[in-house]
Amino acid sequence: MKFGGTSVEDAAAFERVAALVRGVRDSRPVVVVSAMSRFTDALLSAFERAAAGEGGGALAHLEEHFSRHTAALRTLLADLPKRQEAEAALSELEAVLSKAREEIGGAFADAAAGARPRPVLQDLVVSFGEQLSSWLLARVLDARGMRAKQVDSRRCVITDDEHGRATPLKEETDRHTRAQLEPLIEEGVVPVLGGFIASSAATGETTTLGRGGSDYTAGLVGAALRSQEIQIWTDVSGVLTADPRVVPHARTIPRLSYAEAAELAYFGAKVLHPKTILPAVVRNVPVRICNSRQPQSPDTVVYFDAEMTPRTVKAIAHKTGVHVVHITSARMLGAYGFLRVIFEIFDKHKTAVDIVTTSEVSVSLSLEDSAALDAIIEDLKHVAAVRVEPGCAIVCIVGEGLRSTPGIAGRVFSTVKDINVLLISQGASNINLTFVVEERHAAETVRRLHEAFFECATAELVAELGGGQ
Ligand code: ADP
Ligand code: ASP
Ligand code: MG
Repeated sequence: MKFGGTSVEDAAAFERVAALVRGVRDSRPVVVVSAMSRFTDALLSAFERAAAGEGGGALAHLEEHFSRHTAALRTLLADLPKRQEAEAALSELEAVLSKAREEIGGAFADAAAGARPRPVLQDLVVSFGEQLSSWLLARVLDARGMRAKQVDSRRCVITDDEHGRATPLKEETDRHTRAQLEPLIEEGVVPVLGGFIASSAATGETTTLGRGGSDYTAGLVGAALRSQEIQIWTDVSGVLTADPRVVPHARTIPRLSYAEAAELAYFGAKVLHPKTILPAVVRNVPVRICNSRQPQSPDTVVYFDAEMTPRTVKAIAHKTGVHVVHITSARMLGAYGFLRVIFEIFDKHKTAVDIVTTSEVSVSLSLEDSAALDAIIEDLKHVAAVRVEPGCAIVCIVGEGLRSTPGIAGRVFSTVKDINVLLISQGASNINLTFVVEERHAAETVRRLHEAFFECATAELVAELGGGQ
């Protein structure tokens, strides 16, 4: 059971989590928890300030978040019959927080002095979000009559040393996770792990799995333990037909195939970290996405097998902040090896490419990660002319069997016929049609497509079925 930041945002949220875990105690749950909402962002921006030489002020900015932990624990323990127990837990938390302040302060000072590599220090600092939430949740579950124990996930999830977006090493992670958790589970203890944080096999330093990576931890732990199910508890009722911030009336999708879910996650459905699916798919463990605020509301289950729906399109994902790079070279005419040269440059700068389209003399592609863009352009300029279009958005229509269904592309592009489409990609997989528009048109594009495929389509389908069910 993985609980996201909003599922542990305050005392009431912790209380809901405790009730959910208690409800399945007999199924021997393992709990993975994210940092309290907004804390990771705060840690990251404090780190930025500290590295820029404002260490003292940076630490002071975190006090508000440390206090949220104390306030939540105080509220949650207020009704404990034994006052001394509550007082003991609160002073234990004070000790945990003091140690956190000390370690974070030390990392801030090292960052300002350039004493240790920044990515290493940043991962250490940001890990306190999950270190503290997992400590707190274990304490709360304990106080609610469950035998719970915080387990340091850095002893379970073992990665390479790519700080900030580390890749787990499968064998080591499986082995360590089982060794750490199985004895506890056998004893009837509920292990509580912080998501997102891990450690490097080579150096033992703290690493992180990329933003939103707690889902991934749940996927890894569930796969290592061959769990019956991986549950992602969040603030929406499962995976919806579109991002609810853009389409507030988007609906829950009851079932998704692994391929559909992975594609949606990758192209912007933040509800699921794109890599979550991978460990689960290997072991055929279903992933269920549920609402911790309304546990009775509909949810989504992701199964291995595909399922065609009559309308074929299951959801629309989008992501903003995308750059399109146009690369043109007359030398490409009739030549081979050009794509290899280009992709070697992206490989060298460890930058993933999302969409690629080619013509005789040019290649256009889209990138989400623009951290190394300047260096990439510099290298590309040696082999071709380069033009970058920032401020773009990817829109992705997902559904098993899309490629083999006539009429989908026609419907998509006639729906957005007055919006300029910069790149189109379809056919690489059977489940998506992806294109790029200017960012300022993204929300409108998604809304129109949702209307065309889910609002009108429902009406048409109902009519086709004879106006009934
Ligand atoms: P958590 O903190 O629980 O990990 P996230 O904020 O990472 O939660 O993910 C949940 C959010 O994902 C939702 O509140 C919603 O705004 C966003 N989201 C984007 N696309 C979708 C989608 N297709 N279905 C559901 N949620 C989506
Ligand atoms: N706390 C981390 C983040 O905000 C990981 C997560 O929430 O999944 O990115
Ligand atoms: Mg998330």
